Amino acid sequence: APNTAGCSLPRPLPVLGDEVRAPIADGGEIGYAALDYAASAPALRAVWDEVAAYAPYYGSVHRGAGYLSQLSTDLYEESRATVAAFLGCRPDDQLIFTRSTTDSLNLLAGALPTGTQVFVFETEHHAALLPWAHHGHPVTYLPAPRTPGQAVATLVNALADAAPGPKLLCVTGASNVTGELWPIAELATVARRSGARTVLDAAQLAPHRPVDITALGVDWVAFSGHKLYAPFGSGVLAGRADWLSNAAPYLAGGGASNTVTAQDGAVGVVWNDNISRHEAGSPNVIGAFAIAAACRALTDAGFEQLVAREEELLAVLRSGLATVPGVRQLALFGPDAPRVAVLSFVVDGWSSEEFAKALSERYGIGVRDGLFCAHPLVRTLLGPEGDGGRAAGCDGPLKAIRVSFGVGTPAEHVERVVRAVRELVAEG
Ligand code: PMP
Repeated sequence: APNTAGCSLPRPLPVLGDEVRAPIADGGEIGYAALDYAASAPALRAVWDEVAAYAPYYGSVHRGAGYLSQLSTDLYEESRATVAAFLGCRPDDQLIFTRSTTDSLNLLAGALPTGTQVFVFETEHHAALLPWAHHGHPVTYLPAPRTPGQAVATLVNALADAAPGPKLLCVTGASNVTGELWPIAELATVARRSGARTVLDAAQLAPHRPVDITALGVDWVAFSGHKLYAPFGSGVLAGRADWLSNAAPYLAGGGASNTVTAQDGAVGVVWNDNISRHEAGSPNVIGAFAIAAACRALTDAGFEQLVAREEELLAVLRSGLATVPGVRQLALFGPDAPRVAVLSFVVDGWSSEEFAKALSERYGIGVRDGLFCAHPLVRTLLGPEGDGGRAAGCDGPLKAIRVSFGVGTPAEHVERVVRAVRELVAEG
């Protein structure tokens, strides 16, 4: 029977690509159901429109005396202020435009004082897990917690054993595998009490929930534009200025340097100690402007509305899949933990790869299969039995299937994936 849960919902926000039709196996075509927002979300039409209106006025930033250069510089700096306000930044915080969350966290990793001890759960996305050791810092990898309370207790114990010196906790706000929300404010409080700082990986949190750096009590926040409906190649690192201002510039080049001299075969450089220290090269002004436009659009739509809509659709998805035999939804903190619209599952008797392919080819549904750049977490969740394909004797690596959606998703897409999973499982 058709599921009418969507009728009471407000309409999705218009996004680019919502009219795309995908070819399907019966020779016809169907409206494409983009259910891989967690990898990259489509651009909001509001963002696209703002970018298009600005594009003719594009000029170099911080580099020219001409009108367009001035205009672009003003817009770039206004974008910085808009995003800082969206994140609830404190007056002394710096907001650096980067390429992505990965870029932001690597920038911070390169800016930590020498010998900073880093604490990170082994369940993190690789972008939050790997930069610290890569930049030569000692890292304590914390074991997978099975409840939010256990995460807090694990951190308390780890910090109690820590040697004096600078310390950093890196933690993700919402999992890109299970969608589960982590107890960020509690973890940041524990960290602060032990003299540790916290960086929040908000790549999955920011598109779904308001992120307030001050209210959460974290020191830095990182996120990506392409997951926040602004896919123009930009990201953000926002937070405390001191370590950043004292660190070597992320990239050496123009913009980061204040004065450069050459004499007797030697080159001397005085680096800027403001934001431009870590923004060498010509900045991605359209990317920054697009993120600011996304922040405006989400604020205008109202997170309260957006969250209510998302939770209703997520309930349709989760309760629908729960009625299909052999479908196992993955959770670290258990089925009742609060979460955003990201859900991974495995299906008895199916390899995840084959299942995702069938969803695409037969139903025009785009999901992701794999380990989602969080290998230790997915292996923990799959357990020794692996995915359904393994159990059925299929070859290939262990994987899961991930459905994720957001503000542009119509109820029909969610209803379609539930129906498709039911039909595919019934066919066997
Ligand atoms: N952290 C999390 C939780 C993510 O989901 C992702 C993207 N999958 C990243 C970090 C990295 O983001 P990006 O690829 O935009 O650098």
